[in-house]
Formats: sequence, C-alpha cells, structure tokens
Amino acid sequence: MFDAIVVGSGMSGGISAKELCEQGLKVLVIERGRKLVHGESYTDNLQPWEVPNAGMVPEEDLARHYKIQGESFITAATQQYWVKDDENPYITPEGKPFDWIRGYHLGGRSIMWGRQSYRLSPQDFEANAKDGHGSDWPIRYDDLAPWYSHIEKFIGVAGDRDGLPQLPDGEYLPAFALNDGELMFKAAIEKAFPGRKVIAGRTANLSKAQPHHEELGRMSCQARSLCDRGCGYGAYHSSLSSSLPAADRTGNLTIVTDAIVHSLVHDPKTGKVTGVRTIDQNTKAHRTYESKIVFLNASTIGTAQILLNSKSEAMPRGLANSSDMVGRNLMDHLFALSVAGLLPNGPKDSFYHGRRPTGIYIPRFRNVTEPADFLRGFGYQGGVSRMGWRTAIGQPGIGAELKARTRKLGPWFTYISGFGEMLPNPNNRVTLSTTQVDKWGIPVVQVDCAHGPNEQAMTKQILEDGKAMIQAAGASSSRPPPSPARRALASTRWAPPAWARTRRPRCSTSSTRRTT
Ligand SMILES: Cc1cc2nc3c(=O)[nH]c(=O)nc-3n(C[C@H](O)[C@H](O)[C@H](O)COP(=O)(O)OP(=O)(O)OC[C@H]3O[C@@H](n4cnc5c(N)ncnc54)[C@H](O)[C@@H]3O)c2cc1C
Repeated sequence: MFDAIVVGSGMSGGISAKELCEQGLKVLVIERGRKLVHGESYTDNLQPWEVPNAGMVPEEDLARHYKIQGESFITAATQQYWVKDDENPYITPEGKPFDWIRGYHLGGRSIMWGRQSYRLSPQDFEANAKDGHGSDWPIRYDDLAPWYSHIEKFIGVAGDRDGLPQLPDGEYLPAFALNDGELMFKAAIEKAFPGRKVIAGRTANLSKAQPHHEELGRMSCQARSLCDRGCGYGAYHSSLSSSLPAADRTGNLTIVTDAIVHSLVHDPKTGKVTGVRTIDQNTKAHRTYESKIVFLNASTIGTAQILLNSKSEAMPRGLANSSDMVGRNLMDHLFALSVAGLLPNGPKDSFYHGRRPTGIYIPRFRNVTEPADFLRGFGYQGGVSRMGWRTAIGQPGIGAELKARTRKLGPWFTYISGFGEMLPNPNNRVTLSTTQVDKWGIPVVQVDCAHGPNEQAMTKQILEDGKAMIQAAGASSSRPPPSPARRALASTRWAPPAWARTRRPRCSTSSTRRTT
C-alpha cells in the first residue's frame, strides 16, 4: 500500500512525484513505457557519422510504424522516443485528422519537448469569464504565481525579465543572448510595430547551473543543439534529469515501468479511489496497486482514456464523469504556422559561437496592444541565423570554386512560427471505441476534433502578421517549407526547425510539432 500513486512519468508526473515525495509520502510512479536511463539511453554522444542513414528514418519504417509521429521531429537518432502508431492505434472520423504525438517511455514527452517555458498572464486567467467560452478558472494569476516561481527555480529557466503584462516575468537564469541578426530583427520590428516586442526565448535549459541543479548531477548547457536526443549533461529539464532524481533522493520513490494503467479501482461504499489496475506491456499480466491517493498524469488524452475506462455499475460513463464532460473541450495551440525569409541587409561581418537552445519570442499583441477580429491571441517563436557551408549542398559547382564557396559565411535567414490559442468547444472530444480494443484489450481512443471559425481567423492573422514582420525586417523572399524528403534530416542548421515549418492547419495534441 502506497501513500500515493502517480500514473505517468512525463512532465507533470515527474513534478507530482517530486512534490509528493518531498512531503514525505511513499509514492509509486507507474509508467506504461519502457525504462530509459538518464544519460545511458540517450544518443547525444553519437557523432554525425555514427547516426545511421545520416539521420534519415527509412521511408518504409515511417510508412509502417510512424505514419503520425513521422510527421514530427523524428530522426534516426530520436526514433526511440516516439510511439509506433501501428501498435498504438486511435480512431478519427473521416475528414477530421488529428495528430496525437506521443512518447511512451520513462520521462514521457519531457524528453522530447522544445523547452520553451512561458507563464500564462492575468488576462489568460480572466478570458473564459470575460468572453464566455469555457468555464471560469477557479484561480487567478496571483494564486499561481508563487507556484510558477517554485517550479522555475527548480527546473531552471533561462530568460530576461521583460516587464510585459501579457507575459509575466519569472525566476530566470541569464537569458541566451540574441545574436546580431536577431538584434537587427528586433529593432526593425519594434520600430515598424510599436505595440510588438521581440524578446529572448525563455527556455528550460541551464544557461548557468545553480548549486541545487548541480546537486542533482545537472550541468550548464553546452549549446550543442542536440537536446532532441536527450542531454547527458542534464542541461535541460526533464523527468529523467531533474524531477525523478529529486523524488528519488528522498528515499520515498518507487517506479514501475512497462505497466499500462487500465483503469482505477473505485470503492462505491466510501466513494474513494483505492488503487489502479495495470497490464504488463510485455507479458500482459494483470496487477492491482493500492494507495490512498491517485494522481493521473498520463497526458491529456491518456488521462481521459483511463477515466472513461474506469466504468462501474455506479458509474457507467466512467469515473468522475456524471457530467459527461470527461474528454470534452480538447484543446491545443495552433502551431507550425511559419513564415521565413532571407535578410540581405543582415550584419555582414558578424558571426556567433555555439548553437543556443532557443531563439527569439514575440509575445502576444493581438487583443493586447492591437485589435483582432477573433478572441484570444498568439505569440511567435523564431530565430535569425547565419547560413553556412550547407548552402553549397545541392548547388551546382565543383573543385576549388565549390570549396571556396563553402568557406564563406552565408546570408542571414529568419523564420517565425505562430502559436495560437484554441477555444474550448465541447464537441471537440475524446471518447472510447465500443468495438475496437488495442493489443492489451483496452478500448481504443476516438478523437473527434476540428478547428472552428475563431481558430481559422486566428490562423489567417498569424500568417499575415508573420509575413508583414518578416518583410518589415527586410526579408527578400519567403521560403517554402523543405520538401518531405528532407524532413527526417537532423541538424540542418540553415533550415527552420521542424516545428517551424508551415503545414496545413489541422488539430493536434498538446504541443505536438508536425511538419509539412
Ligand atoms: C516535440 C515536442 C515539443 C514540445 N515543446 C514544448 C515547449 O517548447 N514548451 C512547452 O511548454 N511544451 C512543449 N511540448 C509539450 C509538452 O511536452 C507537454 O505538454 C507535456 O509533456 C505534457 O506533460 P504530461 O505529463 O501531461 O504528458 P507526457 O509528458 O506525455 O507524459 C505522459 C506519460 O504518461 C504515460 N502514460 C500514458 N498513458 C498511460 C497509462 N495508461 N498508464 C501508464 N502510463 C501512461 C506516458 O507513457 C508518458 O510517459 C512539446 C511536446 C513535443 C512532443
């Protein structure tokens, strides 16, 4: 019997386990995926020539196993972090695609995340009450602010204090400085659009590790830009580098991997949950674990799946679902709405060292300093970088002339990629199939989700505003997204990261990144 069970070891499960263990509770973390060992299981020590197929995932593997995940960041060096879609199916209605981007392993998506770390603002907490879309938050920004600080200090977030009401400042390590191209971009945008700001991206990478980070074996960021492979230095926050080790040092943590939570055990007499039922992902053996409290951290959709599957005579619609609201109002940000261009007026003799783990951020301005014909708002992540020797790839040339060309610094390139808020809509929902089960006998998830008129209007504005800003910075042209054949190539430094590439708007799960 444990004091607490935490289901899922990803971003939120790791933090829940840490907090509960530090309060003296005996905690069991149950993870459906396999065990990953911090450092040992990563691929960040591989040299480029040691990564198979120059980082490309074979087309047949993509087609067979990664139809959905293959549209995201997947490379030969990161393939192990993405679920095989054929082994973990879900259903979407005809004409309503939904990209559920997942990682089933110890650490969950905290291993693969982009580390951009922003606070919601007072305006965000009031939006539901003011515009009537969604339920009013039971708390306001001021209630949460101390907890943001608590977590930021623990995980380590690099950023500036920019003093913007729509993007509250936090407890930051020194920011990764903007390069000269970004400073030029910032000056141009802030001059052309006085209501807009260009700031350093706030990222959960240790620009300067503090003693409490070092106690956990974490070190300062080496600016290698290999974060997507996992970082043996522990320089970015993940469950494996940070929260689970902190939980473990209390002596209160137990972890079980390869255990898929099927449902929760509910005692109708007391009205309390008493434990969880699991299925071993390899042997299919069933086992029940008991505890006084259960925290569900199995991701947005995974958590809904467990609750909906926890049916009983007393609760035929699933646990905590008498309202029929479990699984409804599925939301994610609009993303991969990118514009890009070459900046011929970029500072000519300026270069920079290293590969910072972040770039620039343009905080929300629509419905803040500028009006909009839609509700809520969006921000942009982006960067300005100098194209290097790779510009010679695929270009005609031979011999000395080609070699000479590869030694010259390339032009400055910029991209910005919008991230917009979706409105809650009860018709965007997760349910369970009544006919199909997965290979462990658990009902398959059905996702029925689409963008509405507000999302469509916002998408249009993101692209229009993005284009206007790129042009105001002096961009000569807007680049089409790289062809699909390029998408599995790792570390194409001149190209925008995969998540920045433009694709047709469609729904996706919380912070998924998908190309094309
Ligand atoms: C490529 C990428 C980039 C991202 N970039 C950013 C970013 O820059 N900034 C940002 O804020 N967010 C970002 N995100 C989003 C962020 O990673 C997620 O919001 C966050 O990880 C969600 O945390 P979670 O604990 O809910 O889920 P997860 O981290 O997904 O963890 C859920 C865990 O539960 C386990 N699980 C699921 N079902 C069960 C079950 N039935 N039984 C047992 N275990 C189960 C899973 O295996 C997994 O380990 C990004 C995500 C991706 C994929």
